Amino acid sequence: MAKIIKERIPTPERSVDERVKSFAEVNLGYTFELAQKEAARCIQCPYDFAPCIKGCPVHINIPAFISKIKEGDIKEALRIIWNDNTLPAITGRVCPQEDQCEGACVVGKVGTAVNIGKLERFVADYAREQGIDKELLEEELKKIEPKDGKIAIVGSGPAGLTAAGELAKMGYKVTIFEALHLPGGVLIYGIPEFRLPKEILKVELEKLKKLGVEVKTDYLVGRTVTLEELCEEYDAVFIGTGAGTPKLLNLPGILLDRIYSANEFLTRVNLMKAYQFPEYDTPIGVGKKTIVIGAGNTAMDAARSALRLGSDVTIAYRRGKEDMTARIEEIHHAEEEGVKFEFFLNPVEFIGNENHKVKAVKFEKMKPLEEKDKRGKRKIVGTGEYVTLEADTVIIAIGLEPNKIITESKGLKVNPNGTLVVDETLMTSIPGVFAGGDAIRGEATVILAMGDGKRAAESIHRYIESKKGA
Ligand code: FAD
Ligand code: SF4
Ligand code: SF4
Repeated sequence: MAKIIKERIPTPERSVDERVKSFAEVNLGYTFELAQKEAARCIQCPYDFAPCIKGCPVHINIPAFISKIKEGDIKEALRIIWNDNTLPAITGRVCPQEDQCEGACVVGKVGTAVNIGKLERFVADYAREQGIDKELLEEELKKIEPKDGKIAIVGSGPAGLTAAGELAKMGYKVTIFEALHLPGGVLIYGIPEFRLPKEILKVELEKLKKLGVEVKTDYLVGRTVTLEELCEEYDAVFIGTGAGTPKLLNLPGILLDRIYSANEFLTRVNLMKAYQFPEYDTPIGVGKKTIVIGAGNTAMDAARSALRLGSDVTIAYRRGKEDMTARIEEIHHAEEEGVKFEFFLNPVEFIGNENHKVKAVKFEKMKPLEEKDKRGKRKIVGTGEYVTLEADTVIIAIGLEPNKIITESKGLKVNPNGTLVVDETLMTSIPGVFAGGDAIRGEATVILAMGDGKRAAESIHRYIESKKGA
């Protein structure tokens, strides 16, 4: 057996000095040579055993694509990845790999896991830069046999985009209806440029256009058109409307100025490009001291964006560091960039000045218990002690839930937490209407949304075929 190389080949990154002043991408990705060196660390576990494949929610044949990188055959590497994942440039950047493919990698038991995410990103980026992805797409386009059947996709996040791409490849006529003026869902309005350059998404959207997918933006299903009307016009509908409604804190002072939900803050910064104001029309008010409440990817994105807009930023979380849900890379980057962290603090009041602007947040100090909750996190209790931290900007990032505009459509069954009820084929309570992504899971991940999009596309195909046979 070949000797295991314990240490990962690091990916080049922009310096901290440069990145705190800019929204340019932080991680620069592997070069061809570095990717081949990292690929050499994979010990090529056999397909039936490879734990990384089991750890990936869409079960990409990871050893096979890594072996193609070693051979220098990037086209084959991309073909293998595309069998299960059509957006590798995105998942390679944003998947929580430490809990998925890399978390399961055997090399990680004796050293650091093979850098699967960055290798996946390398294949996608290199293929795009060299035009290899266009060649592969042309090959796929030649294989498409048009089929009878029109499908409406509601929402253009990773779930909707994946369902649309898969159905178009099967030969169906697909139309996406998107409420915002640009498609992409959280990939365009939530995740900042310094983690996911929007140029990458643009290329993916162009591919969908080549597959014949039509995208109708500024189209709010439930208002501009109803679900019932879509059901009349289309043979099947897929709902991928995500979970874009922020949960807020019902606390004294919540209506003070400069208290944002993370979604509003990030939408202004990313989608409306407030960080380039006045070149773009939308401004964003960020003061000298920002407190971000939360501990997930959204909190981290909001904190690092506020920092880049010139604020001193503190993340306040009611639990401990080990319970943070953000990707490890984002926590690490936030720390490097100078974001401060305060743990075991639970907000109880927002304090304002005479101009109705927030000037401080009062927190109760919490303490952890030995007992764990259902999610395996240690339970916490208030100590009765309080601390007040100054802040002229507060961003609340404590979670999201599905938007009611679509889920309140006639005939759709909804769970108590607002997510849509679906069966094992991802069909909702309305025959022919399928759903996936955050709309059925609540806040989850890009790859799970994509996996649902792919599974729903297969179910929609079977549904249309069965109707023809009926
Ligand atoms: P979304 O991406 O939410 O897309 C839904 C789309 O539907 C939106 O474009 C919305 O405008 C549209 N829509 C809603 N209602 C209607 C309607 N009535 N009519 C028409 N269109 C409608 N996950 C990761 O894996 N890694 C990360 O690093 C990560 N970071 C994140 C950072 C932030 C700031 C946020 C908010 C989430 C992050 N996530 C991350 C979670 C991930 O982005 C989501 O799980 C994923 O985007 C869900 O995909 P989706 O397609 O279900 O929905
Ligand atoms: Fe890992 Fe995500 Fe790629 Fe699967 S899709 S191999 S989990 S980075
Ligand atoms: Fe390679 Fe790790 Fe997967 Fe084994 S588990 S095939 S070493 S990436």
